[in-house]
Amino acid sequence: MIDKFYNEYMYTPMPEMHSEMIPVTQGCSYNKCLYCDLNYRQKFKVFDFEDIKTYIESRRRFYQDKRVKPTKFNLLEGNPLCLDTDFLLRIMKEINKNFSCKYISMFARTRDVLSKSDDQLLLLKNEKMDRLCLGLESGSDKVLSFQNKGTNLDDSLKACKKLERLGIKYSAYIMLGLGGRDLSKDHIEKTAFLLNQIHPFEIVIVTTVIFKRAGLAQKVRSKEFKRLSVRESILEERDLLEKLELETIFNASHKTNALILTGLIPNHKKKLLDKIDSHLEEYSKRDLVKLENKKWRVWDKE
Ligand code: SF4
Repeated sequence: MIDKFYNEYMYTPMPEMHSEMIPVTQGCSYNKCLYCDLNYRQKFKVFDFEDIKTYIESRRRFYQDKRVKPTKFNLLEGNPLCLDTDFLLRIMKEINKNFSCKYISMFARTRDVLSKSDDQLLLLKNEKMDRLCLGLESGSDKVLSFQNKGTNLDDSLKACKKLERLGIKYSAYIMLGLGGRDLSKDHIEKTAFLLNQIHPFEIVIVTTVIFKRAGLAQKVRSKEFKRLSVRESILEERDLLEKLELETIFNASHKTNALILTGLIPNHKKKLLDKIDSHLEEYSKRDLVKLENKKWRVWDKE
């Protein structure tokens, strides 16, 4: 039934992938990040409140004779937090009316967090908004500017501190390889600097993918962006992990990553670093590329 709202697939935050998904928007209101494939897939669209309400009610009916009912909800898609606070409150009240809800999450841009007042965020929190998923991607202003992210390190720090002050939990996406070869060092150093000052409950590590129709593909063709090899990308991850000092979940199990890793840091940090080292020892540069190519062939058939 959710297919009625989305043509192909939907973007869902990894930490919330088991939540009940509520269609609220399609695409992203910003739509300018070079690497992102939401840009060309579909135009930003806000669904009508009545359609969202009807959908929530239909889910309640669907679950009424089920033993287990959803308690965690996620508003789709790229950055629903950009919407008017009253509109979001109406949707959240509708969820709370139909379900016994523990929390409501969503993807959010740091600028969306900053553009809401404390009072607005607290009103949303009061309706169970929690566990926002922030696409921080990098702590390097050079990388963020190259990728046309429309945010910077200062925004990320301010947005995270604001959420922490208001008691709203958040996870943070970080992208390996986002600075390419030229900015790799700056990317990792500044990203570690950023992460060591904030308190996400989970860091989600993903690897930059060059989507054929995304703006970044053009930069690869013009050689303005030199993508990392598989080995370099794993080494970036190692370097980042080694520099991290915060307590959180380090979740690098996303399917774009060459090596699947998950653990608590700092407790499992050594184990995770050892796993990276033995993977790099076991597989030659060539083998890593072969493994990666095989993985993508499998995905293409999914
Ligand atoms: S803010 Fe996120 S969803 Fe929007 S264009 Fe950038 S990466 Fe894509």
